[in-house]
Amino acid sequence: MDTTPTEVLHRVFGYDSFRAGQQEIIDHVVAGGDALVLMPTGGGKSLCYQIPALVRPGVGVVVSPLIALMQDQVDALRALGVRAGFLNSTQGFDERQLVEAEFLAGELDLLYLAPERLRVEATMRLLAKGDISVFAIDEAHCVAQWGHDFRPDYLALSELRERWPEVPRIALTATATPATHEEISSRLGLDQARHFVAGFDRPNIHYRITPKSEPKKQLLEFLRTEHPDESGIVYCLSRSSVEKIAEFLVDNGIAAVPYHAGLDARTRAAHQARFLREDGLIVVATIAFGMGIDKPDVRFVAHLDLPKSVEGYYQETGRAGRDGLPATAWMAYGLQDVVQHRRMAMEGDDAHRRRQVLHLDAMLALCETVGCRRVMLLDYFGQKGSEPCGNCDTCQTPPESWDGTVAAQKVLSTVLRLARERRQKFGVGQVVDILLGKKTAKVLQHGHDSLTVFGVGADLGNAEWHGVVRQLLAQGLLAVESDYGALVLTDASAAVLRGQREVPLRRDTLRPARAKVAAQAKSRPEAAALPAEAAPVFERLRAWRASVAKEQGVPAYVIFHDATLREIATRSPSTLAELSTVNGVGENKLAKYGEQVLQTLAGGGDEG
Ligand code: ADP
Ligand code: ZN
Repeated sequence: MDTTPTEVLHRVFGYDSFRAGQQEIIDHVVAGGDALVLMPTGGGKSLCYQIPALVRPGVGVVVSPLIALMQDQVDALRALGVRAGFLNSTQGFDERQLVEAEFLAGELDLLYLAPERLRVEATMRLLAKGDISVFAIDEAHCVAQWGHDFRPDYLALSELRERWPEVPRIALTATATPATHEEISSRLGLDQARHFVAGFDRPNIHYRITPKSEPKKQLLEFLRTEHPDESGIVYCLSRSSVEKIAEFLVDNGIAAVPYHAGLDARTRAAHQARFLREDGLIVVATIAFGMGIDKPDVRFVAHLDLPKSVEGYYQETGRAGRDGLPATAWMAYGLQDVVQHRRMAMEGDDAHRRRQVLHLDAMLALCETVGCRRVMLLDYFGQKGSEPCGNCDTCQTPPESWDGTVAAQKVLSTVLRLARERRQKFGVGQVVDILLGKKTAKVLQHGHDSLTVFGVGADLGNAEWHGVVRQLLAQGLLAVESDYGALVLTDASAAVLRGQREVPLRRDTLRPARAKVAAQAKSRPEAAALPAEAAPVFERLRAWRASVAKEQGVPAYVIFHDATLREIATRSPSTLAELSTVNGVGENKLAKYGEQVLQTLAGGGDEG
C-alpha cells in the first residue's frame, strides 16, 4: 500500500485537514484494529471507514440500515471517483449480479449492504470469496434495546468476528449513553475494540424549548421569522397530526409534505426523495422519518410534541446542521404533552414502565431546566462539566424562577379536597376553573363553587396555572391517572401540603425578547459570512449546481456542498489550480466540473 490517509483526504475528498478525532481512528483501523466510534452527527464518521477502505487492500464492506439512502451514498462516492456499489432488497436480480461480479473481480472499493443481507447465507459465501479490507457497522445503536427496528439483523452481526477474525471492524453511532455504548460493545463482540468518543456537542445548533400555547401559530411564526424557504423537519407524535400540520403549512403557502408509516411505501419514498433533492422543502413526520437522513443542509428541526426520550430528541435534532452552518432545534411543549406521556408510560409491564418513566423524567427535566440546555444534554451523554453555551434559549434569555410553594399547595389541596370531600377526580381544566373561581356550567353542576378552595387562585391567570400544573407533573408532585387524565396526588405531594418542601418553579416566557431574536438573526453566518458581492455569485453557482444535479438525477449536495459553493463564491478562483485548493474540491470533481465552475464565475449574468 503506497497511499496514505492524508493523501487520500486531499486527492479524493479535496479536504485540507482531518477533523477532530478522524485521523486517530483512521490510523487505528488502517493498522488493523477494531474501533467503536461515537461521534456526533455531522462529525464526519463516513471518512473514518471510507479512507481505511481506500488505503487497505480489498473491499470495504459497510453495513447500513439506510436502504433508501444507499443509492445517494454510492452516487456521492462515485462523484468522487470512488468505486462503490450496494446490495439491498430494492435491486433486481441483474443489478445485483452485476455488483456481485464487480465485488469478486476486485473492482470495488466500497460495498454497502443492508443488515438483513448478512443473514442470508449466500451473502456470507459471496463475501468469503472476495477480499475484505474492513467491516464498517453504521448506526450501531440499532443493536441496543431502544433501537429495536433493525435489532435482530444487527444482533447477527456478531458473527463477522468468527468468520473474519483478521478483518478490522469499526462500529459507528451518533447517539449513545454510556449504557448503550456498553451494549453495542458486548453485542457486537467488540471487546477488543478501541473506543473513540468524540465530543457530543453540536455547537452550531441553537436549542430552544418554548411553552406551547397555540402550536400551529407558533410554528408558523417560527418558520416565517427564522427559516423562510429553508429545509427542515417538523416532528409530530401521531399520523393524524402529521397530516393536519402538513396541510396547514401548505395552506399557508409553505412547501411541505407528510411522512409517516401509514403512507404507502411509494409515497414515502417519493417524499423522502423530494426532501433530499429540493431546496427549501419541509417534511412533517412521525419519528418513522429520518433514520440517518443524510442531507447536510437541514436548517431546523421542530418538535410539536414531546419526544419520548432524550436519546430520541438528540438524535432527531441532530439531523439539523450537519454542514456545520447554524441551525435551530425548536420545540413547543405543554401540559398536554406531559399528561399524554405520563399516561403512555403507564402501559406495558413493570420493567418497561420503569424505563419509560426514567426516559420521560430526563426529557421533562430538560424542558423545565433553568440552566443551559446544552450543558444538560452533554451531561446526560456522559460529558460532564461543560460551560454554559450562549447558544440556547436559557442562556440567551435566562428564565426567572419563582417560589411556587403556595401555588403548588393550592393546586394540590384542590385535588385533595375533590378526592376527600367529594370522592371525585378531575382533569386540569376543572381544577384550574375552581382555582380561578369560574362559575362554569360544569363547576355549578358539581357544586364545586362551595369548595373552600374555590377562587383562591385569582392571583394567577389561566395559562399560568396550566404552567404550574405542568411543572408539578414534571416534578412528580402530581400524577395523572391512566384513562382520562384525572389528576391525583403522589407520595411526594404530602410534604408540599404540610409545608415541608419548597417548590421552585420556572416562569414561562412565551417568547424571547424581540431584540434577542433580531440579534440572533443577524449573527446567522449564512447571511453574514457572504460578502455582498459574493451573494449573487453564490446564487449563480447554486443555479448551475441545480441544473447539473437534475441532469444526473442526484441530490444537489452530491455535486458540491453549500459550504464549498460558498467558499468558491467568496474566493472567486480564476484558474483550475486555484479552484483545487477550495475545501471539498477533489481530483475527480475538479476534472469533471472545474471548467464549468470557472465559466459560471466568469459568465456573470448570462447564466441566468
Ligand atoms: P456523520 O456521518 O458523522 O454524520 P458525515 O460523514 O456525513 O457525518 O460528514 C458530515 C459532513 O462533513 C460531510 O459533508 C463531509 O463531507 C464533511 N467532512 C467530513 N470530514 C471532513 C473534513 N476532514 N474536512 C471537511 N469536511 C469534512
Ligand atoms: Zn446554553
